[in-house]
Amino acid sequence: RRKKIVEQCERLMDEPKQIRNIAIAAHVDHGKTTLTDNLLAGAGMISQDTAGEQLAMDTEEDEQERGITIDAANVSMTHEYEDEDHLINLIDTPGHVDFGGDVTRAMRAVDGALVVVDAVEGAMPQTETVVRQALREGVKPALFINKVDRLISELQEGPEEMQERLLSVIHEVNELIRGMTEEMDDIEDWTVSVEDGTVGFGSALYKWGVSMPSMQRTGMDFGDIMDLERNDKRQELHERTPLSDVVLDMVCEHFPDPIDAQPRRIPRIWRGDNESEIAEGMQLVDENGEVVLMVTDIGIDPHAGEIAAGRVFSGTIEKGQELYVSGTAGKNRVQSVGIYMGGEREEVEHVPAGNIAAVTGLKDAIAGSTVSSVEMTPFESIEHISEPVITKSIEAQNMDDLPKLIETLRQVSKEDPTISIEINEDTGEHLISGQGELHLEVQTQRIERNQGIPVNTGEPIVVYRETPTTSSQEVEGVSPNRHNKFYITVDPLSDEVLDKLRLGDVSMDMPEQERREVLQDAGMDKETSQNVENIIGKNIFIDDTKGIQHLNETMELVVDGLQDSLEDGPLAAEPVEGALIRLHDARLHEDAIHRGPAQVIPATRDAVHRALIDAEIRLLEPIQDVRIDVPSEHMGAASGEIQGRRGRVDDMYQEGDLMVVEGIAPVDEMIGFSSDIRSATEGRASWNTENAGFRVMADNLQPEIIDEIRQRKGMKTELPESINYF
Ligand code: GDP
Repeated sequence: RRKKIVEQCERLMDEPKQIRNIAIAAHVDHGKTTLTDNLLAGAGMISQDTAGEQLAMDTEEDEQERGITIDAANVSMTHEYEDEDHLINLIDTPGHVDFGGDVTRAMRAVDGALVVVDAVEGAMPQTETVVRQALREGVKPALFINKVDRLISELQEGPEEMQERLLSVIHEVNELIRGMTEEMDDIEDWTVSVEDGTVGFGSALYKWGVSMPSMQRTGMDFGDIMDLERNDKRQELHERTPLSDVVLDMVCEHFPDPIDAQPRRIPRIWRGDNESEIAEGMQLVDENGEVVLMVTDIGIDPHAGEIAAGRVFSGTIEKGQELYVSGTAGKNRVQSVGIYMGGEREEVEHVPAGNIAAVTGLKDAIAGSTVSSVEMTPFESIEHISEPVITKSIEAQNMDDLPKLIETLRQVSKEDPTISIEINEDTGEHLISGQGELHLEVQTQRIERNQGIPVNTGEPIVVYRETPTTSSQEVEGVSPNRHNKFYITVDPLSDEVLDKLRLGDVSMDMPEQERREVLQDAGMDKETSQNVENIIGKNIFIDDTKGIQHLNETMELVVDGLQDSLEDGPLAAEPVEGALIRLHDARLHEDAIHRGPAQVIPATRDAVHRALIDAEIRLLEPIQDVRIDVPSEHMGAASGEIQGRRGRVDDMYQEGDLMVVEGIAPVDEMIGFSSDIRSATEGRASWNTENAGFRVMADNLQPEIIDEIRQRKGMKTELPESINYF
């Protein structure tokens, strides 16, 4: 049977019209895994009886234990719709926002996203996040409202009450979609509706589903369905209106195929020349074009080693090809190509444009790489809505494991680019940074368990930022030999410009004209926008000088100096963001020998640091949105847990039989939250957090934290005299 399915997949791979690349995205616990298993069972990939229990997508042991999905896994299946076979390539997305980077990467590889929403809970914070991620990538949404059985059997809702509830879920989701797509000119109306068949309802647990088209086909109306569900005739319900058919029909009918999607999506997700041959190959889904693979995920197979999975946008991938990997110098040779069936990989002869491929041999690729047969502009770096905000030290318990630990850490950061690592071979105490406490905990447990390396980890440490709060005077930076001088000022960037930088809407890879326009739209004056020399992290460097001899050839060193100074801010050597640095004037030595790195870098570094201090630089701390769902008797305890952490409760309201408490709190204070909230509410609270950016810390807290960080980093704890504004 399996062999037959593989053959069928291979045949369909060559017919892009029959292909749908999709993701299922949901807030944690809304039923994505259960639904996915149903689809696999419906397509004959796993047995019907065990669907829902098998959790085929949650392949990692720790995912099964925690009941959450972490790695984006891939699976292909076939489905017959209107007498034609379709190949559905499904990419799994993690539900927990701590793993936001994986969600964005998965979205880039697909053309349609099935958003699953729990009928009882309605749209939740992560529903909003996944919808936003889909729309930003030009991915079309459809809605499946899950757990409808609970409305009928548990909450005993009548038809009207139920209709009202379902309509309000649809309305919530449409509000999100409308709000986010209004400004996009390349898409039509992407709101969902029952009438169009872009909304389905049902129960992933009991394996039944309905949509407008399915009701028309089976002749069953909602009343019939409610009767069967209420009378516990779920098996009958499943047989008369099986969930997998309803959902897969919806996928085939409403999600775009690659031929339809790629011409629209490529200009949105790729910044290269849209008139070029490569662009044409991608827009036409040309299997004979140059090979372009966008890697979304790196997995490890105990036998085959590293596997790069991703979307083939153009050309055909085959064994033996020598392909470029973006961001690296050489080429890698393809050792094998395959597709995914369930959690397993099946080798095939070739994988053409429009499909999801699993490739071995691409040893330099990381999640996010562009792999291609000719050198090309890579897909714009996938923007991670959240940056690492927490760091832990990690060291091997046994000296013998040292090399293996280093290798494993490198591997982890390759597989999950939202993890960053800092290897310290001298002390053996490495640093691992990620999206939150849970994110790091999961990764370190994997290292211990999967790799069998016992490790010791340090206390989690929060990552801060430094930012100027006012405009500085002009500062003169002098090189050690006193022959080179740089005149620099620093101003705070406006929130609008900073947002553009955060979202990746402005970068040095984009055409200059476009960059100017984006910056001017964000309120930057014309002349400044024309003088942008570089973008360094979330800071902009403006060159306002004119006709200074030798400056051009020295500029690279100036930028190096800036980079240096911005990576380690003057307060606590944390990264600087939100600075507009202007070079007004410079004096340079005639002779290149006297204006080398040892002269220019310290001069600019010193000038930038002094200008930042003059611009009253402050520490920023990361904050998180917190949402707690809790029975009303524990509401006071739950809001107390937020308030007691320098947090703020913004809203409290009833939802179903629970109270919802929403607020924000600093990441630093959220360490240990999970056990505290458990004991404060007798384990009755469910909660989640989402990174919500950085905010300036209150002045009275700054000196203590700065001191703490400086001590930890082994810096002089005494601040420079000039920082006396606290
Ligand atoms: P995920 O986190 O989105 O992957 O959610 P899961 O598929 O793991 O489901 C979370 C929980 O909800 C599990 O206990 C499921 O058994 C349960 N669940 C999923 N779908 C349904 C449904 O349609 N009805 C009911 N009553 N429970 C469901």
